[in-house]
Amino acid sequence: MNTKKIKSILSLCMLIVFITIGAQVKPTIYVLATGGTIAGTGKSSTTSAYKAGSISVEQLLDAVPDLATVANIKSEQIANIGSQDMNFQVWLKLVKRINELSKDPNINGFVITHGTDTQDETAYFLNLTAKTSKPIVLVGAMRPSTALSADGPRNLFNAVACAASPESIAKGVMVVMDDKIIGADDISKTNTLSVGSFDNPNFGPLGIMYNGKPIYTRTSKKKNTIDAEFDVTKLDKLPRVDIILGYVNTDKVFVDAALNAGAKGLVYAGVGNGNMSGEVLNALSQSVKKGIPVVRSSRLPAGPTCQWDEIDDDAHNFSASWYLTPQRSRILLMLALTKTTDYREIQRMFTEY
Ligand code: ASP
Repeated sequence: MNTKKIKSILSLCMLIVFITIGAQVKPTIYVLATGGTIAGTGKSSTTSAYKAGSISVEQLLDAVPDLATVANIKSEQIANIGSQDMNFQVWLKLVKRINELSKDPNINGFVITHGTDTQDETAYFLNLTAKTSKPIVLVGAMRPSTALSADGPRNLFNAVACAASPESIAKGVMVVMDDKIIGADDISKTNTLSVGSFDNPNFGPLGIMYNGKPIYTRTSKKKNTIDAEFDVTKLDKLPRVDIILGYVNTDKVFVDAALNAGAKGLVYAGVGNGNMSGEVLNALSQSVKKGIPVVRSSRLPAGPTCQWDEIDDDAHNFSASWYLTPQRSRILLMLALTKTTDYREIQRMFTEY
């Protein structure tokens, strides 16, 4: 073999070594896709009509070649639905898959692509049930992939970069949207259309994404993931909990309807600080006496629903949701009911999570 040939074989070997080492030092992020507007397509780039959950995870990832600069990507399609159709079956499949994959030392973090309508709920469910401190980041988009100035690719890049950062370990489940990093215990969709729709009305964001790196300014004090006491690995369904909304002139019709439908717990999205009409108060009090726990929450976008305010919770054996929205309260109550129906124990959980 002549020197020229030897040299070119040697450089090829070095290139392979460099590529291999480069690939090893980059974290591996596992993308689990569930659908949503981020995977949506419309007929026109400038009008609003579109169908969520239309393109595959491979197509989503192919649209963002820059992902390769921050992580090695592996992916899997868990579902391809609008998140208005998100359900317990998909939740359980998702969390069981995360719990299984998180044991693999070669996987450094997870990104879940998700519709924005119920992203807050899935994020909170995973926050309480995923058994890993590896980063788990949910991401979506307000505009479909075919729209002019689609926000999905930038959000996806930021989400992967966030999950790939060692600084994101043990932060609880997070949502990355519009350059913000928001904790699962305080995320709300606040606007039906705006790309800046996601907000954290009580505590502010955990940080921001800047030049492909997270800058954290806050950590959540609430228990999550490996510190959470809930285990859904053996479950194939979750107890039914219904949310009932408070408004002027409410009667007990919806309380009765929920109980007749087989609810195992109720969340009341009350007016103000979780208040309710006398008729509803009486019906909810009866519900607790029948063994169906009640959590008082508020229809307001921010602020705590406090114990012992206008309503004496101990007199009715109610639990108060503190900073959890009615949707998050429902998830915590469902998980609480897998362990207890005691209102004091449920109240403890509402102060810790
Ligand atoms: N309906 C869509 C969904 O939640 C909305 C979105 O993703 O922005 O899947």
